[in-house]
Amino acid sequence: MPNQITSLQPAHRTEQLGFSDIVKIRNRVIDLIQSGASVLRLEGGEPFAPTPAFIKEAMIRALEEGQTRYAPSSGIPSLLEAIETKLAEKNRIVAGRNDIVVVAGGMHGLFCSFQSTMNPEDEIIFFSPYWTPIRDLVSFSGAVPVLIPWDEVREGGVEEAIRRRLTSRTRAIYVNSPSNPTGDVLARTDLESIARVAIERNLVVISDEAYEDLIYEGTRESIASLPDMAGRTISVYTLSKSYAMTGWRVGYVVAPQTWMPSIKKMVLNSVNGVSTPTQFAAAAAISDRSGHLTAMVGEYRLRRDLMVRALNESGLRCRSPKGAFYLFVDVRERLGVDSWAAMNQLLDKTGIASVPGVVFGQEGEGHLRMSFSNPMDVVEGAIDALRRL
Ligand code: PLP
Repeated sequence: MPNQITSLQPAHRTEQLGFSDIVKIRNRVIDLIQSGASVLRLEGGEPFAPTPAFIKEAMIRALEEGQTRYAPSSGIPSLLEAIETKLAEKNRIVAGRNDIVVVAGGMHGLFCSFQSTMNPEDEIIFFSPYWTPIRDLVSFSGAVPVLIPWDEVREGGVEEAIRRRLTSRTRAIYVNSPSNPTGDVLARTDLESIARVAIERNLVVISDEAYEDLIYEGTRESIASLPDMAGRTISVYTLSKSYAMTGWRVGYVVAPQTWMPSIKKMVLNSVNGVSTPTQFAAAAAISDRSGHLTAMVGEYRLRRDLMVRALNESGLRCRSPKGAFYLFVDVRERLGVDSWAAMNQLLDKTGIASVPGVVFGQEGEGHLRMSFSNPMDVVEGAIDALRRL
């Protein structure tokens, strides 16, 4: 009998798992809009443009051709082929079909990757502020996050910062460049430093390449392309940001054979393969060479430059990010250190919605994340509103 009472509870493993704080902000914004206020929504994390027509058409064609049955669980051949070519051309990663698995977006790819690499008590190093779900994904695998402030990386160099955190339990380094929320892009020399430590200490690198296409200054490289790194790097890709496909839920993971069978098992036992017509659309997106990505980068750069200037003129402090589509704004002087209070103050005074920096880790306190991925009228509205701050 007592068993029946305790059965009616969630499983213990879900108890520590977080639920996005950003939902709280979204709810506040929706309440404000419903009460008649006009809100400039810079709190989001999505491309502002719709999914390009040629991608939607590929999905429609697949549906009309009856591509509605189970696909091979690792991905349809035409998509795997398109990914293989793209990896060789853009990322300089040599990977065969067997080294690639199609997943239901970046989050799913990361989930499967952490589950396939980390054992309880293993330590994984990453930079903070970080994309919020990473901490939960890591903790859910039983591993322990070891954080390095991005400021320390910028000031003292990445190699020293990592070496200071190494212990006998260190198993992995998670790299996210361009980074959400800071927009930092690691230079090739930084990647070489990370690679040197990883090789010396026999570590795995999990590289989250979600924003690989959104680069505004210089070039960007994939750490898996560095000498001797392909055998110890798991690269996680998503079509969400590059192709404005956040709602389609599709991405892919590239990994050496050490982990690929485990990752494939995770994919099979979680989603049993990604929706078949979606995979046809993804193949069209990845095969596209029309210059769509270059045009989008131009649109983002324009918005970034306008917003960075307006923020700095308003007395807030904001570096110009080299990649992704976020501004990580230092509000300590103007609005104070408590980033939840600062977010509310900015929302009340200007109608600008943002995300408190502390949501991305303690190192984000005193900052607000704002997205410049917005239609031009919203960007102009935000610039106007900042003049009134
Ligand atoms: N990685 C980073 C750093 C992100 O910011 C995101 C989404 O915001 C993802 C991965 C996952 O994207 P998705 O699950 O939409 O493919």
